[in-house]
Amino acid sequence: MRKLIAGNWKMNGLISSQAEIEALRGLTGEATCDIVVCPPFTLIDRAVERAKDSNLVIGAQDCHAQQSGAHTGDVSAEMLADIGARYVILGHSERRVSYGEDDEIVHAKAVAAHRAGLIAIVCVGETRHERDEGRAIEVVGEQLAESIPEGATGANLIIAYEPVWAIGTGLVPTNKQIEEVHAAIRHMLEEWLGDDGHSVKILYGGSVKASNAAAIFGLRNVDGALVGGASLKASEFAGIISAAF
Ligand code: PEP
Repeated sequence: MRKLIAGNWKMNGLISSQAEIEALRGLTGEATCDIVVCPPFTLIDRAVERAKDSNLVIGAQDCHAQQSGAHTGDVSAEMLADIGARYVILGHSERRVSYGEDDEIVHAKAVAAHRAGLIAIVCVGETRHERDEGRAIEVVGEQLAESIPEGATGANLIIAYEPVWAIGTGLVPTNKQIEEVHAAIRHMLEEWLGDDGHSVKILYGGSVKASNAAAIFGLRNVDGALVGGASLKASEFAGIISAAF
C-alpha cells in the first residue's frame, strides 16, 4: 500500500509559515508517498492555494458534526470542503482530553466528514495506565468500534494509532508493541468492513522523527505516520517523507 505521511501542525503557524508549505510543495514532486498537511483553520485557505497543482494535500484538525447553525467558534466539514481541505483529523487525544470528546462525538464527526466528502483520519490510542494494565488493544478496539461510521471504506477512512503516552514525549512503543496493535486494528477492520478493511490505511503517530521513521515504516501494517512536532519544519518533515517507500 502507498504510504501516507500526515503532518498535524496543531495550534501553530502564522501567515509567515507559508514558507514551510512552499518548501513541502517542492518535496512532493519526487515523493513516493502521499503527503498531507493539516495546518490550523486560519491557514487552510492559503495552504490550499499554495499547494495547487502539486501533490501536496491539505487537511484540517477537527470539524463540527453539524452542517451549520448556532455553534459559536466551530467549523463544519462542509466549510472545510468548501475551502479545499480534503482530510480531517478526528478524535485526536488532545481533543478527547481538553474538550471531553468521546467516541460518540468522534463518530458523529466522522459521519459529517463523509457527508462533506472529506477523508476522516480517526485517532485512537491508549493511555500509559491502560497499557500498563495490559488493555491497549481492548481500549483501541472499543474506540474503533464506536467511532467508525457506516459506509466507511479504504477511500474515506484512515486510522491513526497514537498511544497517548507517546505524543510529544519522545517516547515510542517497541516495534513489537506497534505491530501488535496495528495487526489487531487490521483484523478488526477486515472483520467489520470486509474487503475494504484491507485498504484502510493505518498510520502510526507519537514522536515520529526523521531518525526513527524508517524503522517504523518497515513494520507490518504500518501504512504511514501522523506527525506532530516534527511536521512543523519542512526540513525535518522531509526526512520522514524520504524514509517512506
Ligand atoms: C500528534 O499530535 O498527532 C503527534 C503524533 O505528535 P508528535 O509527533 O509531536 O508526538
